[in-house]
Amino acid sequence: MRIVLLGAPGSGKGTQSQWLVGRFHIPQVSTGDLLRAAVANGTALGLKAKEAMAAGRLVDDQIVLGMIRERLAEPDVGQGFILDGFPRNLTQARALDQLLAQIGQPLDAVVQLNVDYGELSQRIAGRRTCSDCGRVVNLLTAPQALAAERCPRTGQPHRLFQRPDDNQATVAERLRVYEAQTQPLVEYYRQQSLLRSIDAEGEVAEVSARLEQVLAR
Ligand SMILES: [Zn+2]
Repeated sequence: MRIVLLGAPGSGKGTQSQWLVGRFHIPQVSTGDLLRAAVANGTALGLKAKEAMAAGRLVDDQIVLGMIRERLAEPDVGQGFILDGFPRNLTQARALDQLLAQIGQPLDAVVQLNVDYGELSQRIAGRRTCSDCGRVVNLLTAPQALAAERCPRTGQPHRLFQRPDDNQATVAERLRVYEAQTQPLVEYYRQQSLLRSIDAEGEVAEVSARLEQVLAR
C-alpha cells in the first residue's frame, strides 16, 4: 500500500499516519525526517541540503526527491509506505510520479483529510511540541495519553511548548497558503482516480475507520 496523505496543518495527518503504520505495517516516510537525518549524517544529499539552508534557500526538490529515492530502496518499504510532507505542490507531485514510475512503485491512493477551517484553528491552538524529542501532541484531543507518557529522550514527562507558528494569528495565513498549494494537487490526483476524500472531524478512531474504508476500495 503506497499512500500519500493530504491534510492541512492540524487536520490530524500525523496521528492518522501513525495509525496506518500500525495497521498496514508500512513505514511513514517523512521528508522532514529524511532531511534532518541526511544533514546529521553528512550524506552527499545532506551536504547539499545544508548548503542551501545555510544560504537561506529552500532545499531543492531534486535533493528531496533524491532522499526519497534512497529511502524507498530500503527493505522495509517492500510492502509500501506513507509519504508525509511531500508533495506539497503540483510540480513536486509530477516529479514524484516520475520517480515512482522509474522505480516501479506507483501510488495506490492519495487520501485527503477534510476538516472545517474553524475547527482547524482550534486544533492548532491546542498543539504543543516537546522541546526534547520534538513530538507534537494536542491538548484538546489527547490530554490523558500525554500525561501518562514519558519522553523517549529524557525519561521524564515531555516538556511542552507552543511553537510560534501554532499561534492563532499565523494559522489563518498558513491555511491560506496550504489551500492555494494543495488545491491543484487535489485536482491532479482526482484526475488520476487516486484521490479519496474523507471527513477528518470527530474522534481519532472514527477517522481511522473512515480511512480504512476508503483504502479498501
Ligand atoms: Zn519528549
